[in-house]
Amino acid sequence: SVPLSFFGGIGGASKCGILIKGSNYLEALAKTETVVFDKTGTLTKGNFAVSGIYPQGMTREELLELAAYAENDSSHPISRSIRAAYGKKIEPSRIQAVTEVAGHGIKAQVEGKMILAGNAKLMEQEQVAFEPLDQAGTIVYLALDGNFAGAILIEDEIKPDAAFAIRDLKTCGVHNTVMLTGDSKAVGQKVASALGIDAAYTELLPADKVENMEALLKHTQGNLAYVGDGINDAPVLARADIGIAMGGLGSDAAIEAADVVIMTDEPSKLPTAMRISKKTLRIVR
Ligand code: ADP
Ligand code: MG
Repeated sequence: SVPLSFFGGIGGASKCGILIKGSNYLEALAKTETVVFDKTGTLTKGNFAVSGIYPQGMTREELLELAAYAENDSSHPISRSIRAAYGKKIEPSRIQAVTEVAGHGIKAQVEGKMILAGNAKLMEQEQVAFEPLDQAGTIVYLALDGNFAGAILIEDEIKPDAAFAIRDLKTCGVHNTVMLTGDSKAVGQKVASALGIDAAYTELLPADKVENMEALLKHTQGNLAYVGDGINDAPVLARADIGIAMGGLGSDAAIEAADVVIMTDEPSKLPTAMRISKKTLRIVR
């Protein structure tokens, strides 16, 4: 049977906006020594804003329109920011087919023309001769019928409590903090060093994230927790000892698959949850 104080622990956590889906996870949280984070939407707001438009052979407005149509069907934070910058109504009837390539970007057919919108990996895969943009932000390259059409620079913001969360985890017995991201090395390293994260792995595809997670699981004493928003990282979340989802930004599938849900999207709620679980266990023993 479950000791009564476990209910107290779960109830106390829920008052702080932390949903713990069972007493076993309360116990597992208390023994966590490694925390692995997704970047976008977890440590950063996932609220990208377009900060530069660099067309090639067309106007800025034309490039932004191309991107907005290609990104119309995606719920990825990058897509939302591009649609917001475009600001005009999109006519879905102009769009014929869309394929989202995880960790790469979008391939869309709009009025018979093939549009590519994604990272350098997508351009390389599709053999588009593109001009790399030398800027420390997330860059969406665009191609129209196989020809390079320009780049859009977008920037995200680190969440205000992220640095504190990383520091606070160290006082809760977490020896190792890791970040896994599909974003570029430049962006990933900038965020990791700003936050004092021990190790950052960048330019990862969803399958690479799973592989990284498996390697980390082998080398970790104690439990490993993964914190993500569930966009492109649901399989990693499922593999961790404790899968933690951001409740506000996360996908429904991630919230369902997670063992713990942080309803307020604040990474600093993780050390709070760990303290509650450690305290509850002390009462029980
Ligand atoms: P993260 O691991 O930081 O959460 P994702 O795995 O969601 O990031 O995406 C990795 C990279 O793939 C992005 O940084 C971007 O370069 C590219 N990408 C993914 N989805 C899209 C999209 N809808 N439009 C453009 N680029 C995308
Ligand atoms: Mg993500």
